[in-house]
Amino acid sequence: MSAAARLCDIIAQGGKVSADFDGGDDGLTALARHGYLREAGVLASVVCDECDAPHSAPVVYEADEYGHYCPDLGFLKLDPTRLAAFSPDVPKLIDRLSEALGCRQRKSSSVYGETWRIGAAQTEAAAVMLYFHPTLATEENARELHHALAREARSEWRLVVTAQGALPIAGLPTVRLDELAEINLTTGALRVIADPGVLAGLPRKNPGGRPSVHGDVLRPLIEGRIRDGAAVVGVNAEAGEVRDVFEALFPNRPIPSASAIKRYIREARRGS
Ligand SMILES: [Zn+2]
Repeated sequence: MSAAARLCDIIAQGGKVSADFDGGDDGLTALARHGYLREAGVLASVVCDECDAPHSAPVVYEADEYGHYCPDLGFLKLDPTRLAAFSPDVPKLIDRLSEALGCRQRKSSSVYGETWRIGAAQTEAAAVMLYFHPTLATEENARELHHALAREARSEWRLVVTAQGALPIAGLPTVRLDELAEINLTTGALRVIADPGVLAGLPRKNPGGRPSVHGDVLRPLIEGRIRDGAAVVGVNAEAGEVRDVFEALFPNRPIPSASAIKRYIREARRGS
C-alpha cells in the first residue's frame, strides 16, 4: 500500500489509530515523523484478542502499568508502544497539497466543518479551485460539503479531494488523495501525480504543451514560413527571424519569449 493510500485509510478511519494499525509496519511512524500524523496520546480502548470472544475494553492505568480488563482473564497488561495513538494532521496535509499544487487563495482554517479550501491551482487552461473533505461516502458527507461550499465564492472549475468514497455529486468532480498525490516515506515530500485540470473536467485546449497567448498568431506565422520556404534551418536562427517578423507585424503586442517561439517552431516541424 502506498503511503498516500495508507494516509487515506487513517483519515477515513476518522479518529485515533494505534501504532500497530493495519499491520504495524513502520509506514505509520514515518508518516508521523514527516508531520502527516501527530501523536494524540494513548488509545482510549483496545480490542481484546486474548480470550475466545474478541471484545473492546477501555484502557486503564494501574500500578504503573497500562492494561485492560477482560471478563474471562482479568487485568491484562498492554505494551505501551502499541498504545501510542496518532491522528491525521489535516491542516498540515492541506498545506503540503497547496504548496505542491502551487495554489493561491489557500485558507488556513476550515471553510466550514471538515471542509478545507486547498486553493486555486493554475492548470493549462484555467484555474481550478481545490477543496478537501475527509470522506465522501454518505449523503450526510455530501450535505456537509455542500453546506461548506455554499459559503464560498463560486469557482467555474472545482475539484474535491477526499480520503474515502467517490459519491457522485452533481457538478463536483472528486478525486481520492492517493490518486492525486504520492508521499515519499523517506523524505516526506508530497508530489502531485495527476493533472487537477483534467480531473476537474477542463477541456484540454492545447495537448501539445502550455498554451501561449501568442499561439493564435505564432502558429500560422511559423507554418506560413515553412510553407513558403522562408524558414531557416536552425531553430535558434529561425526563432530570431520569427521574432523580428512578429514585432514588425504586431508592434503593439508584447513580444513572445524566445522559448515560447522555439516551442512553436519545434511543434510545427514535428507536424503536430
Ligand atoms: Zn478478553
